Amino acid sequence: MAVALSFDPDHETVALRDGDTGVGALAAGEYGSRVGAPRILRLLESSAIPATFFMPAVSALLHPDEVRSYVSGGHEVALHGWIHERLDQLSPAEERELAHRSADALERLCGTRPVGLRTPSWDFTASTLGLIRELGLEYDSSLMADDEPYEILEDGAPTGVVEIPVEWIRDDYPYLASGRLQEAPRQVLGVWKDEFDAAYASGGLFQLTCHPHVIGHRSRLVVLEELIAHMRSRPGVWFATHAQVARYVRSQDGGPAESRAS
Ligand SMILES: [Zn+2]
Repeated sequence: MAVALSFDPDHETVALRDGDTGVGALAAGEYGSRVGAPRILRLLESSAIPATFFMPAVSALLHPDEVRSYVSGGHEVALHGWIHERLDQLSPAEERELAHRSADALERLCGTRPVGLRTPSWDFTASTLGLIRELGLEYDSSLMADDEPYEILEDGAPTGVVEIPVEWIRDDYPYLASGRLQEAPRQVLGVWKDEFDAAYASGGLFQLTCHPHVIGHRSRLVVLEELIAHMRSRPGVWFATHAQVARYVRSQDGGPAESRAS
């Protein structure tokens, strides 16, 4: 089976997108960069696990050393919009402009061109797939039509673009963000363990989405620590970046659609 952990360092961008330059809102986002991200990096390093960081370009520009720490740690940095924009409020031309600007900014900061996209808030417009293909991306990680990776079709025709599917069930935000309806963090651990165990039994994919300003808090990070310990206790688990999973799927005979059936 494969485990693909992802972290979305949105930090201050959601507030900035909404024009909220209040110190309080920005500080809550800044926590993700100052505290959450370094804690996550230490945990990944001590566990020898690579991950993918989907980072809005504005967040990356505000925190260039953080981006470099992801790259030097052997992790993947991938696209997550310009400023966590709401795609459904943009014209096709605006969405295209921000997509290209984001890819250029991340390439400058990382030294390599990103190969994957997670759209902000998992929005997906009628233009998005065309932009993924125009940018030459290998995969998307914004859609929810399966537990396992699948190929996105366009008008019924294969595109070669691999979807690494997400779900709110495997996202820290709805359960653990402060100010939201609270679950005891360890209850969430039970949900995620069940998701992992079922994927393990079927030889499938366990994909997780977390945010440094959410999971990075002390009472939340322990959930990730215990989940990682549980996953590492099982033999035969491949911990991979989203790009590595996408490339594995694309390397299978017949491409993504065939690999699902095999
Ligand atoms: Zn985000």
